[in-house]
Amino acid sequence: MKKSIPVIKSSLPSFEEFIEEIRPIWESRWLTNMGAKHNELESKLKDFLGVKHVSLMVNGHQGLELALQTLKLKGEVITTPFTFASTTHAIVRSGLKPVFCDINPDNYTIDVDKIESLITDKTCAIVPVHVYGNICDVERIEEIAKKHNLKVIYDAAHAFGETYKGKGVLGFGDISMLSFHATKVYHTIEGGALCYNDDDLVQKLFLMRDFGILDEETVAEVGSNTKMNEFCAAMGLCNLRHFDETIQKRKALVNLYRDLLKDCPGVKLNPVNPDVEENYCYFPVVIDEEKTGYSRDEMFANLKEKGVNARKYFYPLINDFDCYKDEYDSNETPIAKRISKSVMTLPLYDDLTEEDVRYICSVFNEWKSKAL
Ligand SMILES: *Cc1c(COP(=O)(O)O)cnc(C)c1O
Repeated sequence: MKKSIPVIKSSLPSFEEFIEEIRPIWESRWLTNMGAKHNELESKLKDFLGVKHVSLMVNGHQGLELALQTLKLKGEVITTPFTFASTTHAIVRSGLKPVFCDINPDNYTIDVDKIESLITDKTCAIVPVHVYGNICDVERIEEIAKKHNLKVIYDAAHAFGETYKGKGVLGFGDISMLSFHATKVYHTIEGGALCYNDDDLVQKLFLMRDFGILDEETVAEVGSNTKMNEFCAAMGLCNLRHFDETIQKRKALVNLYRDLLKDCPGVKLNPVNPDVEENYCYFPVVIDEEKTGYSRDEMFANLKEKGVNARKYFYPLINDFDCYKDEYDSNETPIAKRISKSVMTLPLYDDLTEEDVRYICSVFNEWKSKAL
């Protein structure tokens, strides 16, 4: 049989474990609107992530929109084009104007040396992304934000459970957004959360995610509906129990990948930051065609032919999307453009086998001599 290795497989608890978790929902008939499972997950995540406040959301994207809207931002937002569609869409859909800053070629996060030159009197916020779990230069970003009185909202969709210098990474900035989509390292089927330190935001976000309804007769805000339901929260409680196990499995696979690909010239692996405790969410490789003798697209097709499904993540670059390209020029973010054309993520999920990792790496090793 021809091999077929997906790029991702959602992790799941045992069927029995999930059934036990959702049984009380039949007894209470409370299906959504901050029920028992929802509240239990919110409080467990707070402890687990080491962050002061967590507000669960229907998904990460709506969380990000709600964050921008709750802070009542207006004007321009400095962000990165090297991300998932959601980051930029959330900014635009909140009536704000994205201004794209290039990324650094080392870990693909926003280039902090280029942020200040993009600040104008209309700039209200910075929305950086912890790409592939690579943590942004949070200290410099904080410095710049303080100096220019800007809000910082992190797209931390890839940073679940990570720490930086021993501290939970979700405490940086004004708000951090998490995604718990089925494809993420930790998921609730669909879901997400906002993490923050400001006590004043607790009530504001509580209202904003439920139509702004304060009590039976008072609607205080033009809110949305971004609540997490009980079934998703139940999945989240199950997956949280197994998260450490997930990390250990992925860590072993990532280390094997690293070992087997270390002698492939021109295949750049994700940098390791000794200050960061990683979550091993993705395994990106960047192909330097001059050194490999083949392009990302050629290797991507070659892998596909051999039954290995990689993902061109992130490609195309956001400023090249049909819906943005008339307004933006991707040549203004040349590093992001180059990385986007040369990066792909390789299969990584809990029950990926070592045998499959060896097989995938053998495809790279067979082509190692192409440049010679
Ligand atoms: C997944 C993801 C999102 C969106 O999260 P959803 O929960 O799918 O809405 C936003 N930004 C990044 C970087 C992501 O990877």
